[in-house]
Amino acid sequence: MVGEDTQRIHLLGLERSGLENLVSSFGNKPFRARQLMSWLYKRGEIDVDAMTDLAKSFRAQLAERATLALPEIVREQQASDGTRKWLLRADAGQAFEMVFIPEEDRGTLCISSQVGCALDCAFCATAQQGFNRNLTTSEIVGQVLLAKRELGEFAPERVARGVRSVTNVVLMGMGEPLANLRKVVPAVRILMDDLGFDLSRRRVTLSTSGLVPQMYKLAEELDCALAVSLHAPDDTLRDELVPINRKHPIAELLKACWHYLDAQNGRSVTFEYVMLEGVNDSREQARRLARLLAGHPAKVNLIPFNPFPGTRYRRSPPEVIASFRDQLIQDGVIATVRKTRGDDIDAACGQLAGRVIDRTLVRLGSRRIGLGAQA
Ligand code: SAH
Repeated sequence: MVGEDTQRIHLLGLERSGLENLVSSFGNKPFRARQLMSWLYKRGEIDVDAMTDLAKSFRAQLAERATLALPEIVREQQASDGTRKWLLRADAGQAFEMVFIPEEDRGTLCISSQVGCALDCAFCATAQQGFNRNLTTSEIVGQVLLAKRELGEFAPERVARGVRSVTNVVLMGMGEPLANLRKVVPAVRILMDDLGFDLSRRRVTLSTSGLVPQMYKLAEELDCALAVSLHAPDDTLRDELVPINRKHPIAELLKACWHYLDAQNGRSVTFEYVMLEGVNDSREQARRLARLLAGHPAKVNLIPFNPFPGTRYRRSPPEVIASFRDQLIQDGVIATVRKTRGDDIDAACGQLAGRVIDRTLVRLGSRRIGLGAQA
């Protein structure tokens, strides 16, 4: 893969097979790709010259034809609960965000797949920015490598003890991952490759607002955990909250979800449901939601709405969220409430909003016609 800024090959943009091809095109043995991956993903080394067990001639070839760069940090913030957020540079004036959420028994890194987003979900801060561009595979993988370096995960004593800071990665930052499937798939493969970040498929979650054709493609390419932004139990309401629903309504979306589950054992699908006061949070709506999911091994994750400037929505009160959850459980659906993290630095779900210049969005009246359906 050739980078967009130069003709050089971005090493972080190549999954194992791509690196092997590159290495053989340089006239080297394939095991050099393994060595390279070990330096990159096990030791976090990004200076080719420091990779001392690679032949000098090979290092010279890499220096001449390849590049190894991490996203540049524009700003870092830390929340009172320990959540950390990094603003990362995409291009001049363009930025995207990444969030690390430490918990007692795990550390979740939330990464972005696009600069901005074209899907225009009514309750999401990123949507207000419009869409600027897809991130490259190298920028997606680079987020994880950067976070691990920033969190000190590659310190020799921690490597020796096998202590990880980042135990889980979720593609729930800015952007719609399935609208950037071509760049996201190799990145997720690197996350799950045992020579890469070696995360199990249960620990890598891709969240989509419901790009149905791309969900079928995903089912052929990956077996990571899938999260689906459902947010409403009927098409009328979902059309309003998640406009891609007008193109791919709930019945079609659910069919794609069950296909993803059925295509291979051990996969999981979770439905995300943002709790908006007086909009989608009644007991009756919980019952309708349960009916949609009845008979399938699906789980619902209720997300208390995170407000942002200019929004017309409010978060449902805790007792309403609890009652909605209880109704789901009573109707046989596994349901949990997502803990809000990092909201004092706008790092919570739906609050990510790197500065974006909206160049590509076409506006029709107040409705945006996004680029979300492209692969
Ligand atoms: N584009 C992907 C990833 C989005 S972020 C998707 O749509 O799934 C992850 C989750 O946060 C999604 O379910 C999204 O709908 C939800 N979300 C967006 N804005 C939110 C907000 N303001 N409060 C709470 N959750 C929000």
